Amino acid sequence: MPNIAVFIEQRDGAMKKVAWQMISEARRIADAGGGEVWSVILGGDPAAAAAEAGKYGADKVWSAGGDEFNPYNSEIYGTALAAFCKAAGPDILLIGSTAMGKDLGPKVAAKLECACISDAVGLKFDGGWEVRRPIFAGKCFTDVTPTSSMAVVGIRPNAFILEEKAAPAAGETFDAGVSGIDAKAVVERIEAGGGGKIELTEAEVIVSAGRGIKGAENFALIEKLADSLGAAAGASRAIVDAEWVEYSHQVGQTGKTVGPNLYIACGISGAIQHLAGMSSSKCIVAINKDANAPIFKVADYGIVADLFDIVPTLTDEIGKIRS
Ligand SMILES: Cc1cc2nc3c(=O)[nH]c(=O)nc-3n(C[C@H](O)[C@H](O)[C@H](O)COP(=O)(O)OP(=O)(O)OC[C@H]3O[C@@H](n4cnc5c(N)ncnc54)[C@H](O)[C@@H]3O)c2cc1C
Repeated sequence: MPNIAVFIEQRDGAMKKVAWQMISEARRIADAGGGEVWSVILGGDPAAAAAEAGKYGADKVWSAGGDEFNPYNSEIYGTALAAFCKAAGPDILLIGSTAMGKDLGPKVAAKLECACISDAVGLKFDGGWEVRRPIFAGKCFTDVTPTSSMAVVGIRPNAFILEEKAAPAAGETFDAGVSGIDAKAVVERIEAGGGGKIELTEAEVIVSAGRGIKGAENFALIEKLADSLGAAAGASRAIVDAEWVEYSHQVGQTGKTVGPNLYIACGISGAIQHLAGMSSSKCIVAINKDANAPIFKVADYGIVADLFDIVPTLTDEIGKIRS
């Protein structure tokens, strides 16, 4: 029976929601096939992690504390997670496909000389693992089976549904083996980008703008609609290249990969490179005045109209409902 470990990413103590989504899915797999769900946190607040992880079904939370885990350093984190895997021996380690996770996963896998599967959106255990990941810019899926006995798998945020189980997780510490590491690269400081208030990759609702907004000054319309929905504001590359918004908003092949429950695309044509970053959204709404725009092929709901009519009306109506 597989023991599944889930990495809880924390930055300055704030833990990423993708960890709870991965724990929920791990619990479903463990409930069906046996085995335990563990989670592991480096630095941060292990007691808070145990309380939260237990809520979603973790049996145990392993922790290693210390200042060396703040800020993030891939060499130190990689060494610590590999030490955890060697000590605890999970069958699979799940890491969120966040900026940190994409950096960390391959490092841990290399240290353990095991398979590394990135950007997964599905996980099955039936005597062996089957990991589902999108390929060809999200046009198809492939199911990958790791051949090594242990595997590191990166999971896209919002790929799995949260499910509360409400039982506390037991706490356990481990020796991360990082004292005295002379890291070859040191993080001096982290400067927050000027992106949206809600992190795109974690957002449950995203309102994105494309060249249809005509100019930088009109991005405020999109932000207003986003605010009314408690959503993050995204962008196509066209308007990032035009310097209407910062790169941190960009969704797509060369931007962020997102998987919200609701993605509202305003004045976005639906180029393959944009779809690559958002086509796994659970529900896609497109607003475009061109009925033949390719975005309508992936949209669940399409509004063929001028966004300058629709977006303010939607914002007002949502505001009324919310108040
Ligand atoms: C290697 C590579 C990587 C790339 N990576 C990315 C990426 O990560 N993300 C990304 O987005 N793109 C990326 N692109 C660019 C991509 O190919 C497209 O050029 C880009 O997505 C187009 O952006 P857009 O839809 O905003 O603009 P357009 O294609 O110009 O579409 C604008 C849309 O707005 C509609 N419109 C105009 N006015 C209105 C109105 N008043 N109301 C409603 N609708 C209106 C139009 O009908 C049109 O469909 C990449 C390209 C390459 C080559």
